[in-house]
Amino acid sequence: MERKYLELKERVLKANLRLAELGLVTLTWGNVSEIDRVQGVIAIKPSGVAYEDMKADDIVIVDLNGQVVEGHLKPSSDTPTHLELYKNFPHIGGVVHTHSTYATSFAQAKKAIMPYGTTHADSFFKEVPCSRELNKEEIQNDYEINTGKVIVETFKNRDYEFTPAVLVASHGPFAWGKNAQDAVNNALVLEKICQMNLLTDILNPGDNKISEVLEKKHHERKHGPHAYYGQKEN
Ligand SMILES: [Zn+2]
Repeated sequence: MERKYLELKERVLKANLRLAELGLVTLTWGNVSEIDRVQGVIAIKPSGVAYEDMKADDIVIVDLNGQVVEGHLKPSSDTPTHLELYKNFPHIGGVVHTHSTYATSFAQAKKAIMPYGTTHADSFFKEVPCSRELNKEEIQNDYEINTGKVIVETFKNRDYEFTPAVLVASHGPFAWGKNAQDAVNNALVLEKICQMNLLTDILNPGDNKISEVLEKKHHERKHGPHAYYGQKEN
């Protein structure tokens, strides 16, 4: 194994294992990748390998055209979707796809995740949208690329950095972040807010949307020019 990709592979292995530890994946239904924009490669989970057996050497290095640069296994079948996101969202460093129960339920119901509370507002600005459904032609040809394209289309008038996740209609969630671990965190928060929203709607079938002033407050204390949440990064 070439040393230059070792750390990237180890980070991506760790993020994939964490996805399983957090209960966000069943069997092999999920994948995490991270990009090295200097080298022009991504590291991604191999296709169909059980999480408990996965080693750093199994992680596949792919260039931005989807060609395998290093690795003895086939990359995840969702690789073209990840690449489409990296190409169109230039400030992201990691991408996650899962079929986690609650987020996938919202995707199947084709419902956006509305901001009900500060848990949501801290991580996602406004609603987390649900994409349109792919048409027959888009499903039959280049399905995985078209899944990426429909995500990009959904963000045409949205800020992908402030709302780092989407639901793909009838499919499931994709989340992203500054690196693989950050993307996994966003996938976990997404799953939790879907669970909370469902419970909130059961308790109160009325309007549960957070007030705009509280939403803005929580968004800005983490992301605004005067952000004060957490520790200062050096
Ligand atoms: Zn999927």
